[in-house]
Amino acid sequence: MNMKPFEVDVPCPRCGRRFKERMANIRPGCRRTCPSCKASIRYTGDDASKAERDVKHSIEELERTVRDLNRKLRF
Ligand SMILES: [Zn+2]
Repeated sequence: MNMKPFEVDVPCPRCGRRFKERMANIRPGCRRTCPSCKASIRYTGDDASKAERDVKHSIEELERTVRDLNRKLRF
């Protein structure tokens, strides 16, 4: 499977605005500055693993859909 850099919406805990962040940048202990209010956001392990789970879940759903489609096309 081609691994493109995944982007997720990260809500700023201070101003609530969402911004795009690459999955690779979301690691426990990493810091990010909110583009809207310039707040310093620190990713915790919990947030990162939750985002990771969400993405894995989306990929699984997608793979299932593709498999179903392949089956339908074959018959
Ligand atoms: Zn903000």
